[in-house]
Amino acid sequence: MDYFPAFLDLRGRSCLVVGGGDVAIRKVRMLTAAGAVITIVAPKISDRLIEFASREGHHLVKRDFRSSDLAEQWLVVSATGIPVIERTVYDLATAAGIFCNGVDDIGNCSYITPAIVDRGPIVVAISSGGAAPVLARKLREQIERLLPSGLSMLAVLARRWRARVGERLGDLLSRRRFWESVFDGPAGSHAIAGDIAMAEAAMSELLNNSPATQNGEAWLVGAGPGDPGLLTIRALQIMQTADVILHDRLVSKEVLDMARRDADLISVGKTPGCRANSQEEINDLLVSLVRSGKRVCRLKGGDPFIFGRGGEEAEALRDAGQAFQVVPGITAAAGCAAYSGIPLTHRDLSQSVTFVTAHGKDSVDQIDWEALARDKQTLAFYMAVRRFPGLMNKLIRYGRSADTPIAIIEKGTTPEQRVIRGTLGQLTLLADAHRVAAPAMLIVGEVAALGVAEQLPIPQPARNYAKPVLRISQKG
Ligand code: SAH
Repeated sequence: MDYFPAFLDLRGRSCLVVGGGDVAIRKVRMLTAAGAVITIVAPKISDRLIEFASREGHHLVKRDFRSSDLAEQWLVVSATGIPVIERTVYDLATAAGIFCNGVDDIGNCSYITPAIVDRGPIVVAISSGGAAPVLARKLREQIERLLPSGLSMLAVLARRWRARVGERLGDLLSRRRFWESVFDGPAGSHAIAGDIAMAEAAMSELLNNSPATQNGEAWLVGAGPGDPGLLTIRALQIMQTADVILHDRLVSKEVLDMARRDADLISVGKTPGCRANSQEEINDLLVSLVRSGKRVCRLKGGDPFIFGRGGEEAEALRDAGQAFQVVPGITAAAGCAAYSGIPLTHRDLSQSVTFVTAHGKDSVDQIDWEALARDKQTLAFYMAVRRFPGLMNKLIRYGRSADTPIAIIEKGTTPEQRVIRGTLGQLTLLADAHRVAAPAMLIVGEVAALGVAEQLPIPQPARNYAKPVLRISQKG
């Protein structure tokens, strides 16, 4: 962000406009709408501007600009179109610590004005930071079409009711929920349609029935393996309504960027070099936040119920008597397989797929290696990087051929995805040679040999992300 966005309160404040032509009048009109007290300085001032300024009670000074014109000004607009004057005004204003805008002259600007969509008191401002004003204007047109003109009325109505709602609903959360119900419900639609009486009736009813304190809510939500394009619509909706998002370290930044702007984001994941929160601490935090009335989204990588300890968190909520919902996500095995072109099952090669963790609560030996070692089945190993030697030896010892194809998918579905292919017997060699690091998925089975050549037209992942690819040409 090159410029800090802000809305200025210019009501009753002095502003200087240098210039007396068509551009100046446009700027004077805008500043007038914002309540500024304006001085216009130019040797020649158009009749239209004189008429407008006189009507609005602005000061007209018919001469060249002087540095003394800057005294007591909050803001300057320079609209002369004459480069040397623009530069002088800008330099002197800057020296005096006053923000200056040289119209259409980015070199002489210490502030720039955005393209706006005005549904006063709602104003949407769009800026490209001077990089592409035409693009900003195009966006403005799109937003203009998107926002109903009745939005103004809705905002005015909300302003009128603010104090009343504040008196009735003491706590912030209750007020937030009330307003959300207004804007998403019949009161909002009536106001936008211009029927203020109906809107007020709906608001009265809502206010009378709003509890003064709120019950919290909880969702255990799967965030998918990394690509934000793999979030479900439901996950996105919850991320945009939650008050708090408790997330794992594995949840990508791109996914977190889609959360509601003012949601509290709390990382409860393990960061290298730092102590991880214990599962009990996470459970306690989750329960206490819900009890305090918050809407809590517990956001977990992949699917919450596949090696995500979602089951334990669900039990903690249940034991605390808190209702919750679970929103499934695309698990890492499915995401990694799709984005590396490996079908997890295949009529000729594999009739089953098993999701295995090499990181059980007690020990790896709880795994039924004999069953996993049978051929023509796919194994997807989670959390396995540090246990590659052990699991390679076990599988081979129990009878899986050392020639069984494998694929290691590191940081699957993200821009940094790496796919390393080989055979089971080469697993540790490959992992060491390529310095494989977590998070990585190990796929063992005949399907892992299905390689990558041509791109399928669908599905299209988000831009800049690894594309799902599939080659149905078998090696060996
Ligand atoms: N609940 C998650 C799994 C959590 S266990 C899910 O359903 O996917 C964490 C393990 O998932 C990691 O050690 C790794 O094996 C795997 N994993 C998660 N994200 C991954 C990614 N983007 N690429 C490869 N493996 C991933």
